[in-house]
Amino acid sequence: MTDQVSARVASVEQTAEWIELLRRDYEVVAPVKTGKTTSFRPLAEGLEVDWDYTITTIPASKTIYSPQETLVRFARTEEGYRAEEVVPEKRKRILFGVHPCDLHGTLVLERTFLGEMKDANYASLRANYLIVGLNCQSIGEKCFCASVGTGPFYGYWMGQGPPQGCDVLLTDLGGRFLVETFGVNGVRLLAGVEASPPTPDDIGEKLKREAAAKERFRKSLDTRDLPSLLRRNLNHPTWRITGEGRCLSCTNCTMVCPTCFCYDIWERVGLDLSVIERIRVWDSCQDERFAEVHGGNFRSTREARLRQFVCHKLSYWVEQFGCYGCVGCGRCMTWCPTGIDLAEIAAEIRADEERK
Ligand code: SF4
Ligand code: SF4
Repeated sequence: MTDQVSARVASVEQTAEWIELLRRDYEVVAPVKTGKTTSFRPLAEGLEVDWDYTITTIPASKTIYSPQETLVRFARTEEGYRAEEVVPEKRKRILFGVHPCDLHGTLVLERTFLGEMKDANYASLRANYLIVGLNCQSIGEKCFCASVGTGPFYGYWMGQGPPQGCDVLLTDLGGRFLVETFGVNGVRLLAGVEASPPTPDDIGEKLKREAAAKERFRKSLDTRDLPSLLRRNLNHPTWRITGEGRCLSCTNCTMVCPTCFCYDIWERVGLDLSVIERIRVWDSCQDERFAEVHGGNFRSTREARLRQFVCHKLSYWVEQFGCYGCVGCGRCMTWCPTGIDLAEIAAEIRADEERK
């Protein structure tokens, strides 16, 4: 991480004081235990950061890109309808404790929303957020970020660099945190925090913990020549067998994926017609109606829809954006009611090709 501006070490108490300091000026949205799972929630009295969480159900990127938002509102007047500007909320927020897979997930999502075509609504929401990352040491059964290079510790990935992904990065060193800042916003967030410069032992401890975290993975994805492998196998029988035999078109996989961006536009009309709103809501390529166009449906089978999801993440995205559309978080397979696993599908296709 050559672009780091500075690094310090803060005790657990200093870190807690820092969070309290941040809460005075920002809404701090952090991973909080909610029953058996952990979700990003605004920190309020009595809520504590879950420092050891594995994965949240809804990813950090979808804290910014919400399931539903109003784009335009029309209000009835004596003369007809008047368009009213919908000004997105301007509350300053910090997305706190984001794991590296989700930091990259946000950057991947932003290749769509803030790339060639700028989405004004997303840009306006995103401008309210600063991000504090947290290197991950709690590797879940379905996690495979190490295979795609997005974790468990934050580093450069397929042309992306840490300074764009987060403003501050924390590493739990056991009883103390290594706090690295990137860019002016990171330095500003740390202003007023009492912390000491890291010693060579602190840096060594970070490296030791990173190596130990990498040893904990139980799942992997073989990425050798993966985009072309899938392109060559668009007619592989697994699409039909898995798609038609197991996929329920429930759309869970796309709802929890940090990089899925598809949306639909609806008109919401009040019963008394006084207000009409144009809203956008998340959509899913796994929904049968997604590909309905005048005169037909170009992806009417579950086979075709599942192939689209897997090949988009692991093949087409690379062709379009130069990076995978999958950051290895494991959410889609965790929340798939029938356990459909894109890494297993890719492995099955590879094994069949190698047998030939
Ligand atoms: S495709 Fe699945 S594993 Fe990959 S980023 Fe999306 S939810 Fe995570
Ligand atoms: S979560 Fe599983 S069953 Fe539901 S749409 Fe996705 S692949 Fe199909």
